[in-house]
Amino acid sequence: MTRKKLKIYFMSCIFCKIVSGEIPSYKVYEDEYTLAFLDIAPVNYGHTLVIPKKHYENLEIISDKELCRVIMAVKKVGQAIIVGLDVAGYNVTANNNPIAGQIVLHIHFHVIPRKKGDGLHLWPQGKYRDGEAEETAKKIITAKRDSVHGKSKI
Ligand code: 5GP
Ligand code: ZN
Repeated sequence: MTRKKLKIYFMSCIFCKIVSGEIPSYKVYEDEYTLAFLDIAPVNYGHTLVIPKKHYENLEIISDKELCRVIMAVKKVGQAIIVGLDVAGYNVTANNNPIAGQIVLHIHFHVIPRKKGDGLHLWPQGKYRDGEAEETAKKIITAKRDSVHGKSKI
């Protein structure tokens, strides 16, 4: 992609527009690398999105340094949610790539406050048949770490 095309692409990203202030948001935390703001359609009150200020589409391409900063911000936001919203815990999720439900293609972590009896259920779990767990683990272990979309910086 040319630099000009890249600029137009970033300019069309909702979360980049929130970072720049072009789209308003309820910010709850900010530092040099990260921003956290309330999700416009909360799963529970206080549902917060934590993002890198720089545009990265997904976990495969964000730099390790910025990912660390984002996770550190997730921790800070989680602690503030526990104290400020008087909840006992929260879910942290990232829908990584559209197949996993990612709609906004600017990587983000959802921090979702949880209360007893809030009616949220985690996804259903299954079972491995004989040999499947071993086979599956082997595939992951033997995969070249740099082969993930050919972009991993690990
Ligand atoms: P995803 O499905 O990509 O993991 O989640 C995207 C999240 O962004 C959704 O939970 C959605 O409600 C939230 N969202 C989308 N547009 C906006 C917006 O303009 N402002 C805010 N604050 N959240 C948004
Ligand atoms: Zn963006």
